[in-house]
Amino acid sequence: MKIGVPIEIKNNENRVGMTPSGVFELTKRDHTVFVQKNAGFGSGFLDKDYIDAGAIILDTIQDVYEVAEMIIKVKEPIEEEYSLIKPNQVVFTYFHFASSEVLTKAMINSNAICIAYETVEDIDGSLPLLVPMSEVAGRMSIQQGAKYLEKPVKGRGVLLGGVPGVPPGRVLVLGGGVVGVQAAKMAAGLGAIVTILDINMKQLRYINDVMSKNVITEFSNEYNIRKHIKESDLVIGGVLLKGAKAPKLITKEMLKEMRPGTVIVDVAVDQGGCFETTKPTTHEDPTYIIDDIVHYSVANMPGAVPYTSTVALTNVTLPYVVKLANEGWEKACQNNKALEKGLNIVKGEIVYKEIAEAFDLEF
Ligand code: NAD
Repeated sequence: MKIGVPIEIKNNENRVGMTPSGVFELTKRDHTVFVQKNAGFGSGFLDKDYIDAGAIILDTIQDVYEVAEMIIKVKEPIEEEYSLIKPNQVVFTYFHFASSEVLTKAMINSNAICIAYETVEDIDGSLPLLVPMSEVAGRMSIQQGAKYLEKPVKGRGVLLGGVPGVPPGRVLVLGGGVVGVQAAKMAAGLGAIVTILDINMKQLRYINDVMSKNVITEFSNEYNIRKHIKESDLVIGGVLLKGAKAPKLITKEMLKEMRPGTVIVDVAVDQGGCFETTKPTTHEDPTYIIDDIVHYSVANMPGAVPYTSTVALTNVTLPYVVKLANEGWEKACQNNKALEKGLNIVKGEIVYKEIAEAFDLEF
């Protein structure tokens, strides 16, 4: 199959849909991979790395879309890309259709086969192509939180690990899922005292089993949240209610119970956030202060570490890309239930119920 990897043109997106090692896996199976010039540059991969792996470098985005039977990307196509997508072309990327009617209609009109990373679903209901980005964001939340706890950026002036003779900082993690576990792991590694609150007892048992002694688990309820925020230096928001807005676990009024300079990192910002005072921010201007509490709520945290994020994402997408290339999209989706769940729009028709429902369109 002829596979195309265009450069990501969405603002500030430095990730790329395929690494040189992914290209190598495809070319050794006799597929042809066309990579746009400089597509990997933002993630630290040079054209030479792709050429050495067997890719053909093309100059323009138009060239890549023109020649490819399947496009592998990271972000949803933006307006400039709509007209490049051809009928019957497979596009495998994050789409998040339910958040854009314009994109949905454009992809219906393209007559392409749109397979969305975010809806590829294993039989246990887990979303394997979303997990790596939560892992990155969870680990990053502590790195960012530690930075913004420094005094020159209005934090409490606390070193999370403490030093001999000075106690370590306290980190409260709301939600013990993928984000929460990775955050707790990083904070515990720095020597902080970590508390994870969750409503899922099974998950709390697991965390209690595998984490080090400086990670404590407690059931998530308002009483426990109020108790912990008073003495926490850093609070991480990592809750998720599947398909719904995040519950507001910390209200504006509760900020007054926290010590000035406490940092809150609301990773769940993309689902509305679990702090009442959360509003989305960007890497250019990541924080704001309300009632002396430093808020960090970047909606696209993995974008700041494109090398790690690209490799983490392509590690999990590549096995599906190989199936699609080897078998063609129809057979690959028939043979693999997880991949079949990724089908969102096929040749002008919405085939994913929730997307049709979101805009009252035909299913
Ligand atoms: P997950 O499903 O693995 O974990 C969510 C956890 O929240 C679950 O364990 C659940 O039991 C728990 N939870 C639900 N209600 C709760 C409550 N009231 N109190 C405490 N815990 C509660 O989800 P995840 O992959 O860890 O993702 C968490 C959030 O981070 C999602 O909104 C996701 O979209 C977001 N995210 C954001 C970024 C970013 O760049 N900002 C990147 C990746 C993921």
